[in-house]
Amino acid sequence: MISAIKNTHCIICGEPFDKARASKLYCSKKCRQAAYYHKDKIDAIRKSQSKGISDQIQTFSMKEYKEYNRIRDRLRNYRTLQSHFSDVEEGSPAWDLLYKNPSCALTSERQKIPKQLWDARLPHLSIEQWSFIKSLYPLFNPTNFAELTCSLSSEFMNQIRSIDSAEGKKQHEKFQPIKNKYFHHLNKIVNGEINFI
Ligand SMILES: [Zn+2]
Repeated sequence: MISAIKNTHCIICGEPFDKARASKLYCSKKCRQAAYYHKDKIDAIRKSQSKGISDQIQTFSMKEYKEYNRIRDRLRNYRTLQSHFSDVEEGSPAWDLLYKNPSCALTSERQKIPKQLWDARLPHLSIEQWSFIKSLYPLFNPTNFAELTCSLSSEFMNQIRSIDSAEGKKQHEKFQPIKNKYFHHLNKIVNGEINFI
């Protein structure tokens, strides 16, 4: 018997659920509606693609890209600071002093970071790579998007990173669906079908 896969996050906005459930897909009525809305939009794009024309211009926010990098920088700074206290054992009195003291730099830095990202290591993403992942998960807010980027497999990341590398050229015979999709995304940027505002 195959046990049902439990969802931990809303498939539309990436909001984590309090409790993982097998049949739950959306966090709210709003996201359920967004899913229906996107179904229509996806159908429209599919139809226009089969006709060979796509007048759909995608727009990405530079502000959101900067926000991703801001979260990433903040996490790196926090981790650097944390590394200076690496010999402090979790749960020890010294640990309590550091992590429960609001005036401690470590605590105040940590409080600037959403809890779900405390252990996150965000990958470096060029604006092309960032917008590609964003196009797959358009409605994720910055925190949920950041969490998502940590969960992408190394195979996924390798395929989008291999576009410019010599390593990628060597492996061109391999089946790389993500790489193909990303290449399509780059072409759209070049052709002005993708805008950054
Ligand atoms: Zn949601």
